[in-house]
Amino acid sequence: MSGLELITVPPAPPPPLRPDVTFSYAALAFLCSWWMQIDAQWIEDEESESSQGGTLLHHAMSSFSTCGKGKELLPEGETTLHALYVQAKLWLVERRGTGRLIGLRSEKAFAYDLATRTARELVDPPGLEGTRWYADKELRPLHGIKPTEWCGRVDLWAWGTDAAGNSVLYLWDYKFHFQPDHLDARAQLEVGALALSRALGITRVIATAVHVWEDRVDDKEVYELGPADLNRIANEVDALARRPANDPQPLDGAHCKARYCPARASCPTTRAAAEDGINLIPAERLAKLPPRRPVGEPATTNDAAAWKLVAADLLEELAKAMRAEGRAYADANGGIVDSEGRVFSGQPQTTEKPDLTVPGAVDVVLAHGGDFAIKEVTTWTALEDEIGKPLALKVREELRKLNALNVSTFPVYKARTPKVEGAKTSRKRAS
Ligand code: SF4
Repeated sequence: MSGLELITVPPAPPPPLRPDVTFSYAALAFLCSWWMQIDAQWIEDEESESSQGGTLLHHAMSSFSTCGKGKELLPEGETTLHALYVQAKLWLVERRGTGRLIGLRSEKAFAYDLATRTARELVDPPGLEGTRWYADKELRPLHGIKPTEWCGRVDLWAWGTDAAGNSVLYLWDYKFHFQPDHLDARAQLEVGALALSRALGITRVIATAVHVWEDRVDDKEVYELGPADLNRIANEVDALARRPANDPQPLDGAHCKARYCPARASCPTTRAAAEDGINLIPAERLAKLPPRRPVGEPATTNDAAAWKLVAADLLEELAKAMRAEGRAYADANGGIVDSEGRVFSGQPQTTEKPDLTVPGAVDVVLAHGGDFAIKEVTTWTALEDEIGKPLALKVREELRKLNALNVSTFPVYKARTPKVEGAKTSRKRAS
């Protein structure tokens, strides 16, 4: 042996993971990682109606898998959620009937350790079953999650055999759709399969996305993953975890909005989009503004036009975030005084809608000739169009007596001129 010894240097450990980056962000993570920086500003409490619906449906399906009941977890009257649930339930019943599955399990959380390439199944702490507790920076250390563990839930998995009789692990992920279009679920399925295979010590996984719409289920997005595929995924995840934490460039594209980037209101690309947005202002208006920068390139190529679309999406997000910040400031400080002396604030506004589910309410509307205004959603406008304003007002009062009005209150934000103490308002007829 020569005097030289081979010294192997272990790879540097990956930086701690941002706790709220779960498996469901895998696709976005591979497309752009700027948003994953520990200090990137995320959109607070963003949960769209469809993602709330998706969460409820996942709980309902988990309950159906374990105890045969899930419908009760969905709000009554939400016809879309119920239709999606029925489709998913029928799919699962048929799947179970194949007889090749053993020990079907649902909604289990797993952690994949980026430092050791190992994984484990997590046990939900009491009271936090089925929640994303592993994404909470306070709860993670309390329940023994390491800073380098990437966590997420697997919707459904079971041991089984494939068509040739080989032992295999099946994994399914529900994708509930409220729109006709859908994106592929490959990245999330692959990361879930990697975690599951490492945790359970198996090297063959068949991962399937179960795309559910109100009227159908499509389970043709299937990935058959063997040992080489799982190693390839582990290498990709390694590379992702070791991207320099402070130097990733934002990589914009349709994914910013389509994959719900949580930092799309704050990333440098958004700010660039804001500047680009200035260039969308008509030239005659721009001419009246101080000339601070030249007008940008027109969309004369495919790439430039595609960028305009992305910029417009990002601008919308930026506008939403700015409006929310302004309103929050107004709420906390009793309003915002603008340059005209007006006060911008939120004032509670109450609205009333007819509630024709109350016994006798339909009779009131019919008695006044409003037959055609009676629809799934009956509005005052439809009623006024049909029977005129005076009768519609009468109907409203009669419905009020019957307690057949849905009343809701919400803040309306606008700038108002404050009333001057002691001043009287007088209106003069224009001559
Ligand atoms: S908005 Fe787009 S470019 Fe910016 S961090 Fe998110 S994914 Fe990346």
